[in-house]
Amino acid sequence: MMRNIIIIGSGPAGLTAAIYASRANLKPLVIEGHQPGGQLTITTEVENYPGFPDGIMGPQLMMDMKRQAERLGTEFVMGYVTSADISKRPFVIYVGEDDNRYEARALIIASGASAKLLDLESERKLMGKGVSACATCDGFFFKEQDVMVVGGGDTALEEAIFLTKFAGKVTVIHRRDMLRATKILQDKAFKNEKIDFIWDSVVEDILGVEEGKVTGIRLKNVKTSEIIEKGCEGIFIAIGHSPNTKLFNSQIELDDKGYIITRDGTKTSVPGVFAAGDAQDHVYKQAITAAGTGCMAAIDAERFLGEE
Ligand code: NAP
Repeated sequence: MMRNIIIIGSGPAGLTAAIYASRANLKPLVIEGHQPGGQLTITTEVENYPGFPDGIMGPQLMMDMKRQAERLGTEFVMGYVTSADISKRPFVIYVGEDDNRYEARALIIASGASAKLLDLESERKLMGKGVSACATCDGFFFKEQDVMVVGGGDTALEEAIFLTKFAGKVTVIHRRDMLRATKILQDKAFKNEKIDFIWDSVVEDILGVEEGKVTGIRLKNVKTSEIIEKGCEGIFIAIGHSPNTKLFNSQIELDDKGYIITRDGTKTSVPGVFAAGDAQDHVYKQAITAAGTGCMAAIDAERFLGEE
């Protein structure tokens, strides 16, 4: 069956696009992806999404958005996109291990972004054995233990603050002497007695490969070149995100970091393909801006289909 609109991704961008496309009677199909609900499903409290004066838990917000889209007529498919052909229309999307085939007149890419890693062999080997990229998923396993958080942005500080609920001590390792995170999070972190900082330092290696679990970390001070080793049980990598756009690498115009280039609203280099959320936004990356561009993409797609 040919669809009017397929939406790839089920974070705030994808679900907002779905809500708008449903209300325009376009009967969208959402392909939920590797992480249904997107990055907010692995956060705790969201305090800056308008409309929730007392804050709302990330997973709850995403469940509500999905229910809203469903009620208005959005169809959902569990699974991730394995390949796509957008060289001609209808666009063809293959989903899941069985490569189920879907066709659409218009496509909205809202595939979001995923956590970046340090790219060390020890990190790969110890992933899930003390190394993690998600404090809300794994923090619980580090009761009263020493953990490190690598990074200096909002995510790093949020993870560090969250981890103090479980860990005995949390050390933030940042490669500069100034944080990138917002002031409010900096203040919270500096006030927290369980949080320490190691400045101007990069991770040389993660220790414990032979033992099969993290035992420590080797750091290099970028100013003095001094190398130190610190014992710890957990290491959380929080150094930002990269867009999930590999599938479209050669088919759509991307910038040098892999973000989809949009012009004139949410139009991509392929007519009929629109992009929203973190897959195309390397500046704001907020739930509310993702939702905003999801709304724009649905309106742009509706106009595109209407003009045909
Ligand atoms: P980010 O703002 O890009 O920060 C990444 C941090 O990791 C930076 O401090 C960066 O150092 C460091 N870093 C990057 N690559 C590194 C490497 N290879 N080795 C060591 N350190 C490295 O990413 P983010 O913290 O994930 O935040 C992403 C976006 O989401 C931001 O716009 C943020 O405001 C938003 N966000 C908001 C909230 C909230 O509002 N509560 C929560 C989470 C995220 P440098 O500083 O030296 O570049």
